[in-house]
Formats: sequence, C-alpha cells, structure tokens
Amino acid sequence: MRQSEPLRALVRETAVEPGDLIYPLFICPGKGVRNPVSSMPGVFNLSVDEAVREAEEAAQLGIGGLLLFGLPESKDEAGTGAWEADGIVQQALRALKQSPAAKKLVLIADVCLCEYTSHGHCGVVVKSREGPNANFDTFDVDNDPTLELLARTAVSQAKAGADVVAPSDMMDGRVAAIRKALDAADLKQTPILSYASKFASAFYGPFREAADSAPQFGDRRSYQMDGANLREAMREIDLDIEEGADMILMKPAMPYLDVVRAARERVDVPIGAYQVSGEYSMLHAAFQKGWLDQNRAMLESLLGIRRAGADFIVTYFAKDAAKLLG
Ligand SMILES: [Zn+2]
Repeated sequence: MRQSEPLRALVRETAVEPGDLIYPLFICPGKGVRNPVSSMPGVFNLSVDEAVREAEEAAQLGIGGLLLFGLPESKDEAGTGAWEADGIVQQALRALKQSPAAKKLVLIADVCLCEYTSHGHCGVVVKSREGPNANFDTFDVDNDPTLELLARTAVSQAKAGADVVAPSDMMDGRVAAIRKALDAADLKQTPILSYASKFASAFYGPFREAADSAPQFGDRRSYQMDGANLREAMREIDLDIEEGADMILMKPAMPYLDVVRAARERVDVPIGAYQVSGEYSMLHAAFQKGWLDQNRAMLESLLGIRRAGADFIVTYFAKDAAKLLG
C-alpha cells in the first residue's frame, strides 16, 4: 500500500490545506515598517500598510485567516492601547477590512492586555495580599476588574472589523463577560475563539520579543495552566464552552498534542492549536544548522497537529506551508 505516491495518496488519512492555517501578524506604528524579529526568522513587526500587503499575499495563497497582535505606541498600567478606538489593532482591522483580501480571510483579533500594559501582565495588577499567603505572593493579577477591560477590548475590535475575537488571557469568566458585552453592543454575530487551555510555557519566549510583552516582574504561572494538568485543561474547556465560546484554541501545540487529542474526543466545537513561537524558532534553528530538511519537517509538524485533532492551526509557517501545499 506504500509502493507509489498515487496509492499512498489514496489511503492518506489526514491532510493539511492552506485554508486550515491561520497566520499571526504583529502590528506596529509607522509607515513602511518591516522590523525583523531576530529570534523568529521570517517574522516581522509590520506597520498597518505592510500588514495589508501581507494579508493580500496570504489571501492569494489560500490561507484561512489572520490573527492580529498589537505593539502600541505607548503602554500604561491599565493597557489602554488594547481598547482605544484608534488602538493599533483597531487601525489595522479597519485598513484590512477595506482591502479585497479581507473577503477571503477570517480576521481574528487577539484579546489580551499584556502587549499594552507597562508591567506586561495579562490583567490588572494589585499589590500582594496580606495575611497567610503574603509569603508566596509579591503581586496578584486581579481577575474581576480585568474582565471589564477585556470585554471593552473585544467590543472595540469587533466594531473595528474583527470577524472573530480570541481572548488569550486565561482570566476566569472572561468568555461570559465578553459574550455579554458583545451582545449588548449589538455584535451578536461575532464568534469567540477562546484560548481555553493555555499552558504556562517556556516555548512562548520568542513571541515576547515579537510582541514586546515580557512580564516586567514575576511570571504568568498564577493564571496560565500548569503543564502537568490534562484534566484541568478539560475543565477549562468545559467552562469556556458553557460560557459561550464558539471555538477553542489550545496552546502550545507540539508538547501538548495529547491535550489536543483529549479535547477532540471530548467536545464538538471546532478546535484550533497554536504552534507557538518557540516551536517555530527551534525548528528554524535546526534548519539553519542544516540538521533538518526544512520543507519536510515543517509539513510533518503541521500534519502531527492536524492528526492530533486540530481543525485549524495558528502557525508562523502559514505562508511557507501554503506555498508548498497550494
Ligand atoms: Zn496576555
């Protein structure tokens, strides 16, 4: 059954298609800006006009959609740049919506505060609790006040043209808060793609350079999940779906393929997996050394994620893979 390519193609169980791929873009201020991210070959911070060009190329290649992150002009404690009407992602969404590419792409906006807060955390930061826990906490991310800011961000992005909003913060109750706010703003048709299980991972390292979002103190382990916990991931997914998530996103992908598979067997909503920056960068490091065949390793990494059960994949390889697959 493996003797010829037509025979292998006939019995192939899993396929990766350009339309399964979501391409992340990092939008920065300015015009004609294309700043390379040193730890992620082929990835750039792009001004809005350059992002529109990238979108046109992505649409031509048949890529499924874009996931937008923002690098604001300035940051503050409350992450104002995330929800301002003329925030950097909102500007990009308006420009993209006017481009013909937008008709072929799903425009997904990342909903979080960490790219916009001066401290780099995903929510409102308060000083450490008093009392018995004081030894363990130097600070807390305050869940409930954060929800209002996330909801405001999602509404502002949807008004600017986001087809889908994707909360990545891991606060409790954010999906319900965002759904309620969208409905109240007459944005009932805007779906929510929730990062339902996002593990605290070393593989996010290069992203923090790309999005300039490294925490200035502490880490994110008090709100992102412990990588050891599969059952807890299922609980997070159930909660997000109950709260109104239309799709879920799992992150990272390759070190957590068993979690993707478990989710696929448990729920019926569409599932995406995010092949995160560190997964991309480590493969590129091996390509540069000549240790791995670039095209084969890239496609195999994507195939593995699809085979684990992901319907779509957020990946920095989207353009390169689409060129090979198209
Ligand atoms: Zn965040």
